[in-house]
Amino acid sequence: MTNNKRITAPHTRLTASTAALLAAAAVGTLLASAAPASAAPAEHAKTIAHTKTVIIGLDGTMLDHVKTANTSRLHRLLAEGTSGTSSIAGHPSISGPSWSTVLTGVWNTKHGVQDNSFAGANFVRYPSVFTRIETADPALRTESISTWGGIATIAGSGTPHADVVTTTPAEATETATDTATATAVARDIVDRGPDVVFTQLDQVDGAGHATGAASVEYRQALESVDVEVGRIVDAVDARARATGEKWTVLVTDDHGHKPSGGHGGQTPDETTTFVIARGPGYPPGVTRDDYRIADITPTVLANLGIAQPGDLDGRPLIKTASTPAAGSSTGSLSEGIPQPIFGS
Ligand SMILES: [Zn+2]
Repeated sequence: MTNNKRITAPHTRLTASTAALLAAAAVGTLLASAAPASAAPAEHAKTIAHTKTVIIGLDGTMLDHVKTANTSRLHRLLAEGTSGTSSIAGHPSISGPSWSTVLTGVWNTKHGVQDNSFAGANFVRYPSVFTRIETADPALRTESISTWGGIATIAGSGTPHADVVTTTPAEATETATDTATATAVARDIVDRGPDVVFTQLDQVDGAGHATGAASVEYRQALESVDVEVGRIVDAVDARARATGEKWTVLVTDDHGHKPSGGHGGQTPDETTTFVIARGPGYPPGVTRDDYRIADITPTVLANLGIAQPGDLDGRPLIKTASTPAAGSSTGSLSEGIPQPIFGS
């Protein structure tokens, strides 16, 4: 599951000198230092032209609970981006099937994953987004860095698969493991600028199982994971400022939780999912009812200019994004984020 196609150098912590480099770097200087020595100028141009994507997967997270919690970073993304909830009723409300849907762009009826055993997975016929990207252009950098090991089963499937497939070694608590995951993601965004990086954080699901979605502990887990979301978004914003790259931040989940805890059934608490999209083309503060978890993979492919496979169930979110409501403001967008481009 962690049979990486390319072995990456040991990670180094984000140092003050790295931060200073990012802050000070001119676009050309940074790209020249970050790009492989063999990279041709044309590849530099392509890197600038397409939109990079970070997908932050928040396991077991319910958006209505996020909205009433002290989650300032997620609230900021809701304000700066377009978001929506939708139901996966009819599809298992289980991590394996749902994250497979996120990372293939097809529902369980096609990818075949029905539970966390991954028995019946058909990633040959319906490959992961990583396989599709690496097939289209092996020079693109794809990464999966997650807390739950099941993600590596998806990201490490197929040939070729993601350039980096990492499951964070367990820390003393799931909260600490999520911090390690998010720290690694933020560091790679700043230092390496992957074209797509997927991450999954698990502590909210853990709290849901332990004490239920109605519990104080569940809300505290939301507030804790919110800090990790902020860590990753800050890295994206720093990278975008330093390089001029365009980035889309996508936040999504796999299922909810019953008030008393647990999932896998078909109640609305379990089957309601959400997507938040912030970046070029997503009007700030807009909510939609047609954002589905199957749309993540098509969106990532569209960001990289890769043609949509005809057999996907989802479609790029950007195609459905509306123009902002009259009077809505883009003033809250941070300076590093390009203004929305409409009508693309
Ligand atoms: Zn769970």
